Amino acid sequence: MVRINFKQISISLFGLLLASTAPAYAAINIFACEPEYAALAKEISGDMATIYSATTALQDPHFVQARPSLIAKMRRANLVICAGADLELGWLPMLQMKSNNRAVQSTDNGVFFAADYVDNLDIPIKVDRSMGDVHELGNPHVHLDPRRMAIVAKKLTAKIISLDPENGQSYQKNFDDFSARWQVASKRWQQQSQPLNGLKVVAYHSSFRYLFDFLGIEKVADLEPKPGLPPTSKHLLSVLDIVKQQKIKLVVYTGYQDKKAAMWLQDKTAITSLQLPYTVGGNEQATDLFTLMDSHLRLLLNAIATH
Ligand SMILES: [Zn+2]
Repeated sequence: MVRINFKQISISLFGLLLASTAPAYAAINIFACEPEYAALAKEISGDMATIYSATTALQDPHFVQARPSLIAKMRRANLVICAGADLELGWLPMLQMKSNNRAVQSTDNGVFFAADYVDNLDIPIKVDRSMGDVHELGNPHVHLDPRRMAIVAKKLTAKIISLDPENGQSYQKNFDDFSARWQVASKRWQQQSQPLNGLKVVAYHSSFRYLFDFLGIEKVADLEPKPGLPPTSKHLLSVLDIVKQQKIKLVVYTGYQDKKAAMWLQDKTAITSLQLPYTVGGNEQATDLFTLMDSHLRLLLNAIATH
């Protein structure tokens, strides 16, 4: 006869429950605006946090709907990590307000903006409406520069420790480990990028501004007539002129941008169109911050080698 021990069953069920909702003991509940900051938070917090990313690599982080599921996630968060510099201006303040969560209303408590801690490129001297949807605080797409991300990682670690000092040593250890690996990888990326130095490209929006800055790539034209505005045929003709005159070989865009304009350019000239992952999850290779940068280098180096 088989005797069933209910106590054991309930204990193992409890264990199962813990495992399935892991980390049930999470001290920190993180709401990341974009996948790159979810990935960075993961590096530092390990399994000590629950992490949720509000967007995927295939979503335009400028435009997100403040839908109820996002409000619910923010209501439970005690740390919100975003690019900042107004990238999320169109949706983050709405989520903060509707979540009614006092813990994540300000950078004085549970809000962290990456762009607050690094030098932002392209801060306009003066902004008016005629310039399009210009980022007034400079370009917020800072995550594609490994040098800037090293700084952001350090600051984020301090923020996380301030919110959960009990686990401070573990966060610090994770950061030290990340930092060591990041330094080695950054050196490798810099070496690998030599052939890309001085490369001239056409791009879409200023999404890759910091990547180009790191790799020494120069953007000579943009598919957007003005930041945030979709390509027009008149504007594309002027881009075509530049491509022909300067013999530009590459036009790059992200997975969340419409590729029609890049394809049109490819049809008209010998230019190669190349989709690059904007962030983690942007293609199969880019599963974390390391492989994201590896993927950029592989794709760019392949593109110039085969041209
Ligand atoms: Zn932007």
